[in-house]
Amino acid sequence: MIALSSKQVLIDGRTQAATLLLEQGRIQAVNPWGDVPAGYAHHDCGEWLVMAGLVDSHVHINEPGRTDWEGFNTATQAAAAGGITTVIDMPLNCIPVTTDMDSLQAKMACLADQLWVDVGFHGGVIPGNAPHLPAMIDAGINSFKAFMIDSGVAEFPASDMATLDEAMPILAAGGATLLVHAELPPSNSHSETPADLASYQAFLQSRPDAWELDAIAALIELSNKHRCAVHVVHLSSAAAIDLIAAAKAAGTPITCETCPHYLTLAAEHIPDGDARFKCCPPIRNQANQDRLWQGLEQGVIDFIVSDHSPCTPNLKLLESHNLWEAWGGISSLQFGLSLIWTALQQRGLGLDVLAKWMCENPAKLVSLQHRKGRIAPGFDADLVVWDPQAQQTIDANNTYHKHKPSAYEQVTVQGQVHQTWLRGQLIYQASDNQHFTQQPKGVALL
Ligand SMILES: [Zn+2]
Repeated sequence: MIALSSKQVLIDGRTQAATLLLEQGRIQAVNPWGDVPAGYAHHDCGEWLVMAGLVDSHVHINEPGRTDWEGFNTATQAAAAGGITTVIDMPLNCIPVTTDMDSLQAKMACLADQLWVDVGFHGGVIPGNAPHLPAMIDAGINSFKAFMIDSGVAEFPASDMATLDEAMPILAAGGATLLVHAELPPSNSHSETPADLASYQAFLQSRPDAWELDAIAALIELSNKHRCAVHVVHLSSAAAIDLIAAAKAAGTPITCETCPHYLTLAAEHIPDGDARFKCCPPIRNQANQDRLWQGLEQGVIDFIVSDHSPCTPNLKLLESHNLWEAWGGISSLQFGLSLIWTALQQRGLGLDVLAKWMCENPAKLVSLQHRKGRIAPGFDADLVVWDPQAQQTIDANNTYHKHKPSAYEQVTVQGQVHQTWLRGQLIYQASDNQHFTQQPKGVALL
């Protein structure tokens, strides 16, 4: 039994001095600061900020099958070092892709001694796998990802409208949510290779706003038809905000996320030929970024997650500067808290929205809102202890992703994680040479 005290505990959007009583992995009570009952070991965090551990519901871990790209061990260590205590793994880039019970079991079979934080799983919707969805829902998967465009890996083909039409009533009946990569090219589109393969502008123009708008318009229609909850992953185009706002106002069960790269980077400043900045949909211009922030403030965009999508460095083609052929995906899992906190301060926003957008709201997507993402009695004692004032420079030496290339290398950010607690156990400590606990303490969330 631990009593964890700080002069700054972020509870329901407000910082206050408090002592949290942690027992059997849960927050048992929130006491006035210094009120430590007999029998509790006192752990004083001083002035460091204590908030709920972050929930990142969009992480490509790629194991089994592409474990050379990332893996449960490295991804969850990076998460712990970044103050994230729950990650949800995407169903693709691993082999087999998570689209039936056999592949789900293959994933479960490689988790032992690898989870440093708690890990949940999205299933996948692909053409032909509708008959497998009910069993996966019964096994505890309540969110399923589909692509409306080529996913980049052959094992996870895009879903056409007929596939979504077939899957959505099944998901709706099971109370599950359809997550969608929402880019829909016109049926007559053909991608023309540009003259300059390194040009970021040419890449950006090849994935126009209209693709996101058309996809989201189609999803709204399908969601209304089947009364199936739909979640738009990694919204890049701010042009779609009004459409989503109108659908929400009309009662369509639609939610939406965006990512640190769309909120902190802008096309004007992206160097040509550097695929560390390549992702799909692409990072657009500064005016678009400003409007995404407004979408968050308006509550149209519900939360912020990493879409950590790494690969082996050679697939980024950094030597040949070929943006066209390079793997698309930004590696950023560990940095989200600092990146977003830095941006929030520049925009005059505070810790209240940080907790709402990176802890509370992503937990709702995966039905963990009763135990993750808040500091309150009965919730899992998942905590990040950090210094909002401290500056740090993102560097390969302090990065735990399997591969270090990232759009954020050598970027200086504010906010440094000192400790991460998972269900009442100290799992990461920046000051300790060891950094991580001897044994991984994470569990699979099903
Ligand atoms: Zn993704």
